[in-house]
Parts: sequence; C-alpha cells; structure tokens
Amino acid sequence: MGKIVSFSNQKGGVGKTTTCVNMAAYIAEAGKRVLLVDIDPQGNATTGMGIAKNTLKKSVYDVLIDEEEKAADAIVPTEIANLELLPSNIDLAGAEVELVQMKNREKVLKKALEGLRDRYDYILIDCPPSLGLLTINALAAADSVIIPIQSEYYALEGLSQLMNSVTLVKQHLNPALDVDGVVLTMYDSRSLISKQIADEIRKFFTKRLFEIVVPRNVRLVEASSYGKPILLHDPKCTGARAYKALTLEYLAREAAKHA
Ligand code: ADP
Ligand code: MG
Repeated sequence: MGKIVSFSNQKGGVGKTTTCVNMAAYIAEAGKRVLLVDIDPQGNATTGMGIAKNTLKKSVYDVLIDEEEKAADAIVPTEIANLELLPSNIDLAGAEVELVQMKNREKVLKKALEGLRDRYDYILIDCPPSLGLLTINALAAADSVIIPIQSEYYALEGLSQLMNSVTLVKQHLNPALDVDGVVLTMYDSRSLISKQIADEIRKFFTKRLFEIVVPRNVRLVEASSYGKPILLHDPKCTGARAYKALTLEYLAREAAKHA
C-alpha cells in the first residue's frame, strides 16, 4: 500500500513545488514507484515535470469534479522512470467553488486516489498556497504532511494557522494524519537570520525538522523553467545534492518507522 504525503503551506513561494517535484524524482531514482499529484491550479508541478498544461486531455480537475472519471486515465508518464504525474491546469481554479456543492466535498481527492494506492509506493501531493478546500482535500487524503518553510524573517508567521488546519482535519476527517517533517528551504548559511530561523523552527518542531536544509541555489529555478527535476538538469549542484540527501534522510526515517 502506497503512502500518501501532502506538501502543504498556505504561504506561496516557500518551496512546496520545488521540494515536491525534486523529492518525487529522487524517491523514484531510489527505485520506488511514485505518483506526483498536482492540485494547484497554477500547475507549477505539472510544468516543472515538463508537461505542457494546455495540451492535457484530462487533468486532476476532471477527476475531482466527475465521479465517472478515473484518476488512472488522467495520469501521464514523465521523463523519469517510476515517476508518473496526475497533472493540473487552470481548470482547477473553478474546482474550489464547484466542490463546495458536492457531497463529501472534503474527501473527493481521497476517493479518487483510493484505487491507486497499490500501484505506487509513494503518492506526493503538491498543494496550492491556501487553506481552501483543495488543501483540505489533500490533508484528508494523506497519511502525512511535509511542510516546506522558507528561511526568512516571517517564516513562522501563518504556521499556527496551518497546524490548526492539520489539527482540525485530524479531529474531523482523518485521525491518522501525521506531520512527517519540516523542510527548511532557500537557506543561506552565511546569513545570521537563516541560522536564527532554523533554531526557532527546531525549537517548535524538534526532531521533525529535517537535518538536511536546502540552500538557495539558482540551478533549482533554472531546472523548473526547463521543466526538469534538478537530477536531470544539474545533478551535481548544491541544490541537487541537498534534495538527494533530504530524500535519503526521509526514506531512512520511513524505513526506521517500519523496522
Ligand atoms: P511554492 O510552491 O511554495 O509556491 P516554489 O517551489 O514554486 O514555491 O518556489 C518559489 C520560487 O522560488 C520558484 O521560482 C522557485 O524556482 C524558487 N526556489 C525554490 N526553492 C529554491 C531554492 N532552494 N533556491 C532558489 N530558488 C528556489
Ligand atoms: Mg507551488
């Protein structure tokens, strides 16, 4: 049975998509079968995997809105073996409103992914920058959450809202939901602020903060603009090495849980 992990933080620009795309790629490289699910109407994970949003025949939108649509029919292969994508495009912008009227509106994604669990080892969900119904659907569908946090002065602001949503989802929709970890992104080892923020986040999340931090690295920006995970663009750069190490840290933690 595959594990479903939601990459969530209602702040935009904190590195959710970059972390989700690159961890998906490295988990696949480690030999696991991975599905990346893009539920952001901006479709950055979709473009980041080199899939042209305007040529999609079906997207996650169709799967969420039409019960008859099977998620499997919207899934597309990627350049990386073992890594497939359930893509998104701007159609999904309307879903938030359409979902409101649906029965079990918080569990539509959970239902759509149900039949896919045994085909993958990991299903990673890239969330939009809000705590709206799409993110709630991701949290309701997931076994765990990974929270990317940008190393900047206001990093902790808004985190209590996110944790509050996680608690509410646990209480009402998904009691087994876990926080797997917090990833510090865009870290600048030369800046005092980055260090202070890391300390503060470590105080708050203790061991759930991953040891590996992701440095600021322009190669990661380039890679996404070429529609490639970093391992296909520049596997030796500092960003690539950090994401690879982070993924191995994550997989080691997972293996330790089941040992
Ligand atoms: P989110 O999905 O949370 O909105 P993104 O992953 O799209 O965040 O990242 C926001 C912007 O920052 C993007 O332009 C991305 O390429 C860039 N970025 C992400 N991580 C890094 C990093 N470690 N170093 C430099 N730029 C980064
Ligand atoms: Mg994003």
